[in-house]
Amino acid sequence: MNKTSRMEKLNREIGLCVKCRLSITRIKPVPGEGPLDADYFIIGQGPGANEDETGRPFIGRSGKLLTELLALAGIDRSKETFITSIVKCLPTPPLNRKPRPDEIAACCDYLARQIELVGSKKIILLGDVAFRRFFPKDKFSDWRGKWRDSGGRKYFISYHPAAGIRFQKFKKILEADYKAINKLD
Ligand code: SF4
Repeated sequence: MNKTSRMEKLNREIGLCVKCRLSITRIKPVPGEGPLDADYFIIGQGPGANEDETGRPFIGRSGKLLTELLALAGIDRSKETFITSIVKCLPTPPLNRKPRPDEIAACCDYLARQIELVGSKKIILLGDVAFRRFFPKDKFSDWRGKWRDSGGRKYFISYHPAAGIRFQKFKKILEADYKAINKLD
């Protein structure tokens, strides 16, 4: 089975998934999207309301900021990135809460299979939920704005773009992080 067929099969599985409580409240699961040979694999926390309605990742205000941040790094979102999240369904109620540990555990196999399939060597972790999934013993603040190596891949760590939408202070830090992303590599 080729990459496209394998990803389609995985997306169908996610589309039918009822492994956690988020399946009850979601409108559409959001598996993720991007070229299947993307250089960068980007992982957020979970879909928001816009994403839940459309089934597409990072299409709201956070997504617009993410696209701008990637452009600062010289990365073309549509051509060079595959974007997904730790959980594939909207965490609620309350709306946009952090996914719970059992929801993350139920969903993690999909993420692992996506990473393997796309095969990107560079992974960008958006925020502390994504960071903790990969580095549960480490402090987010020690690694923000840095690359680190693990298991044959490189991980870049910064805030979730939603933090930059809410607070100007975080937007400035995000912009500085992304401007430096390929100088630090
Ligand atoms: S969040 Fe993941 S595990 Fe839970 S229902 Fe959605 S796809 Fe399934």
